[in-house]
Amino acid sequence: MSADHTYDLTTLAARAGEEARPAGSVALAEPIYQSTVYAFPDLDTLDRAMSGEQPAAFYYRNGTPNAATLERALAVLEGTEAALAAGSGMAAISAALLGVLKAGDHVVADSRLYGVSYALLAEEFPRLGIDVTFVDACDHAEVEAAFRETTRVLHVESLTNPLLTVPDVPALAALAHARGALLSVDNTFASPAMFRPAQHGADLVTHSVSKYLSGHSNAFGGVACGRADVIAAARTRLLRLGGTISAFDAWMTMQGLKTLGLRMRAHSGNAQAVADVLANHPRVRAVYHPGLSDHPQFHLAMDLYPQGFGGMLSTEIEDAAGFVKALAGRIPLAPSLADVMTTISWPWGTSHRALPEAERRRLGITPDLLRLSIGIEDIGDLLADFESALDG
Ligand SMILES: *Cc1c(COP(=O)(O)O)cnc(C)c1O
Repeated sequence: MSADHTYDLTTLAARAGEEARPAGSVALAEPIYQSTVYAFPDLDTLDRAMSGEQPAAFYYRNGTPNAATLERALAVLEGTEAALAAGSGMAAISAALLGVLKAGDHVVADSRLYGVSYALLAEEFPRLGIDVTFVDACDHAEVEAAFRETTRVLHVESLTNPLLTVPDVPALAALAHARGALLSVDNTFASPAMFRPAQHGADLVTHSVSKYLSGHSNAFGGVACGRADVIAAARTRLLRLGGTISAFDAWMTMQGLKTLGLRMRAHSGNAQAVADVLANHPRVRAVYHPGLSDHPQFHLAMDLYPQGFGGMLSTEIEDAAGFVKALAGRIPLAPSLADVMTTISWPWGTSHRALPEAERRRLGITPDLLRLSIGIEDIGDLLADFESALDG
């Protein structure tokens, strides 16, 4: 790419990762390297590969060429020195955090986290001697008060699940750095097309690639991005714990990634239009979307996300069960997100099922709350579907 021109993310997403392919005539579409081991011409070449002097693939668990392509692409898109691909979003988050933590360390984390991330921090880390304090990351006094001498990491999600609150990443980075801690941001809901946490001071950025990065509900994996030394430490943990991504899933993710910029523009525009229509319907009790002026972080969100917020929104609606039924055959009820097709999920009964009922209600998660993952369909068709289900 040209050095004197700043490329748009749409361009970077279409090209990134491919630049280090072997020289000479090569297949334009990268092959899937379905080989668990690599052959070397002599001991010297093998020795240089093993020592890292001339990095080369040698054994599947240590990384395939397909995983390496995905890693280069994500480092470019998130604007970090390095990236690590992993077998799931949880493998990436676990390896990234365990790379910088040891027994006796302390973590401060937002209480509004993906359910399994919450369980990892609340139940697994204490078993390893790592203490965790949960806070409201939008309340900076509470965050500051939770810090200890031993706090190494502050962990948040850039857009939280399911109510789309927007933690102030630049302010939290400053706060963490002043205490000698790292800021870790799960950027799954936003994707680097909408928000690049490292550009705002985050030290670690993680993703579930099965969401927007791949975008078609058909690839599974995770990625962690950050400084070279932080990612090297994460890689050591991941390889020993055995969390390698498959070559096929890395390859599939690259197919989706090429259209990330285009997809995210379409997701964002459609989600904003659906949020506006829902917000004005008498059957709708609440709409949670950062682009609505009654969102608690509306001004901050407009500042940090000039291109939109991706496809996620939540809504509390009278007779949610009837609404879901009325949409059957058009908009599937499916407990994940980020497909090019619009889908609906039910946080009360799926992603947040493990939380005690009182805690769910305290967080604003009621049985009538639905989380919508708005796809890239024609907006006229989408609004017609929603309006007929609302009025039917
Ligand atoms: C899905 C998800 C994860 C976990 O990723 P897996 O690939 O399912 O392991 C983590 N964080 C967020 C925000 C997610 O949506």
